[in-house]
Amino acid sequence: MDFRPDMDAHLAAKKRQYARKKKRGKIILIILLCITIAAVWALIGVIAVRLAGSVDRPAQTTASVPTTTAAPVVTGETTTAPVIQTQAPDMQTVLIEKEQLSRGSLILVSSLLGRAYDFEQESDLVTLYGNKSGSYRISSTALQLNRETLDALNTMFDAYYAETGNRDYQITQASRTFEQQQSIYDSYLKTYGVEQGSLLAAQPGYSEHHSGYAIDMNVYTATGISHSLATAGEVDPIYSWIYENAAKYGFVERYPEGKTTVTGITYEPWHFRYVGRGHAAYMEENDLVLEEYIALLYKYPYDGKHLTFAYDGVSYEVFFVPFGAETEAAEITLRADATYTISGNNWDGVIVTVSK
Ligand SMILES: [Zn+2]
Repeated sequence: MDFRPDMDAHLAAKKRQYARKKKRGKIILIILLCITIAAVWALIGVIAVRLAGSVDRPAQTTASVPTTTAAPVVTGETTTAPVIQTQAPDMQTVLIEKEQLSRGSLILVSSLLGRAYDFEQESDLVTLYGNKSGSYRISSTALQLNRETLDALNTMFDAYYAETGNRDYQITQASRTFEQQQSIYDSYLKTYGVEQGSLLAAQPGYSEHHSGYAIDMNVYTATGISHSLATAGEVDPIYSWIYENAAKYGFVERYPEGKTTVTGITYEPWHFRYVGRGHAAYMEENDLVLEEYIALLYKYPYDGKHLTFAYDGVSYEVFFVPFGAETEAAEITLRADATYTISGNNWDGVIVTVSK
């Protein structure tokens, strides 16, 4: 009997079975290997997360301590991001144009320094007659001042009247045109000569009365007697009130005794100038005339240290923005909610006053 073919077939079947088993074993081995690798990776992942967590925690605690220099990336991320978000919407950009140089309550008009008043600028002159309060007198119905000065004048004399029951202060001079100053100047030169006359009256174009921020005053009593402002206090002490209180309302004695070499104008106890509330108080406190105050403000530029002071519950921050000969406009950044005023110095820059 030839069993060989059967045997061969049996052997072949055995071989195929073995081969299948071997193949299956290989697949199982590969799967097991894969599972092992996956498990190892998972373990590494867990360890890595744990390690990362343990690095983060001390980094976060150091971030809250400002003196530490550790973990700079984390501190950088946690401190700068919120600052950028809160700063941007809280700030405003203010554009200041060249025309502003000759406008505002701090403009300096002076013969001595050659600072002429700019008649080209728009003015908002208001006639005192019909617009003034009933707490003081006027010598003429033609007198005019700018709105800001008139409002401050009304407030000041209303306070005086409330305190004393007196309304004898009288405005004798306010805004003047070039032609009016020309005729005053000519008459002074005629009376006192060129040298003395030019000290007593400003050249036309160089009087601060042109600005609408200046007033001359006297006292005119109910019985029809007039007194000069300087000596009225000797008649009745209530008439000295103006010298003690004007600064509270933004007015300064513009040409005081002992400052003639600085102002170029002799002592004028009747002449007051509106400069604004905080400024007037600071100037009085530090015995500065406008020329000296303007000079001082050069030391407090926008990009440097600002002048700060407080008066009557208000904090003031003052700084100077220089304008070069070619500067057409300047930009400054202020807090969005800032209350501010801008005034030129009538020469080479503007003064910004932030109050709160
Ligand atoms: Zn005057």
